[in-house]
Amino acid sequence: MSTALASAAKPGMPRRWVADLLSDTLTQPTPAMRSAMAQAPVGDDVFGEDPTVAALESRVAGLLGHEAALYTPTGSMANQLGMRLHVEAGEEVIADSLAHVLRAELGAAAVLSGISSRSWAADRGRLVPSAPLGLMSTGAGPYQVGTALIVVENTHNFGGGTIQPLDAIREVRQASREAGVAMHLDGARLWNAHVATGVPLADYGREFDTISVCLSKGLGAPVGSVLVGSAELMARARVWRKRFGGGMRQVGILAAAGLHALDHHVERLADDHARASRFAAAVGAVAPAVVDPALVETNIVMLQLPGTRWSPAELVEAAAARGIRTYAAGPAAVRLVWHLDVDDAATDAAVEVFTDLLA
Ligand SMILES: *Cc1c(COP(=O)(O)O)cnc(C)c1O
Repeated sequence: MSTALASAAKPGMPRRWVADLLSDTLTQPTPAMRSAMAQAPVGDDVFGEDPTVAALESRVAGLLGHEAALYTPTGSMANQLGMRLHVEAGEEVIADSLAHVLRAELGAAAVLSGISSRSWAADRGRLVPSAPLGLMSTGAGPYQVGTALIVVENTHNFGGGTIQPLDAIREVRQASREAGVAMHLDGARLWNAHVATGVPLADYGREFDTISVCLSKGLGAPVGSVLVGSAELMARARVWRKRFGGGMRQVGILAAAGLHALDHHVERLADDHARASRFAAAVGAVAPAVVDPALVETNIVMLQLPGTRWSPAELVEAAAARGIRTYAAGPAAVRLVWHLDVDDAATDAAVEVFTDLLA
């Protein structure tokens, strides 16, 4: 198979890749999704008059076993609203040190809401109950910052698509609830955890006060996330969404893409998982220290480079020269993410290039 570039980049045009594994945010809306968007009934959602947004919100709330939901432009906004609802200025949120809310939202909880934070170390982002429960600080009165919220990320992005065990979540939930500490789930890729494990979305959902889910990652919508929780919490979140600048008007045209994705793009996430697994098995066979296929749980593969001749930047560049786009994830790892627009042929090409470079 040829791994040459599919076509040379034209000026002003995005470069075409044989396999674009940079992120699952890169998906193009399918023709059927575009057609669903074009036909969506819309209204002014700031006045609560967009029927397509209302349908999406009630559908996602139901899937996660909660009363209400709120459509947001980004996952970061959904997480920031979730944190804002539970944590007063000067109180703290705790999360693992690789969490998206701490590493990839540019300090928004501190900047926008005066929220302080601490973190625990977690191997590949995996939740071990003793870590948050040991870190959580309650009842210290005027002497120490009080923990108001624990954030769990499922699947774990920078951890490499790690699925959080439901038992561990339940153990944290029970102990934190007794201590009066709320829980928020950053479920940007909760769909992947659900498809990989068969655990119903609502089984995850009911262990949390609020949940954010992304429609624009593996589900393939161009834009949008949803925050889920009680009717009372979502009414407050609606006020803060407007205050954060996220009140949108005839946005049903985007929500329609989310509804279409829920109908057509959830079960197929299993294809992404199978392709990621197949890639990891092939690369692991020639370079066992670089990737252990047993650690690839969903659509993300992390290649660990210590002991090889590669730095992340050099490996990313060498793969890019052969048409495969990937991401240097920190000082010693390269991340590859499977999604709607990476098929079997693209996976074969990635296998060929990486087994060659890493053997
Ligand atoms: C992508 C992502 C988000 C949200 O990102 P936005 O770019 O703001 O939509 C939140 N959490 C995790 C774990 C993510 O991967």
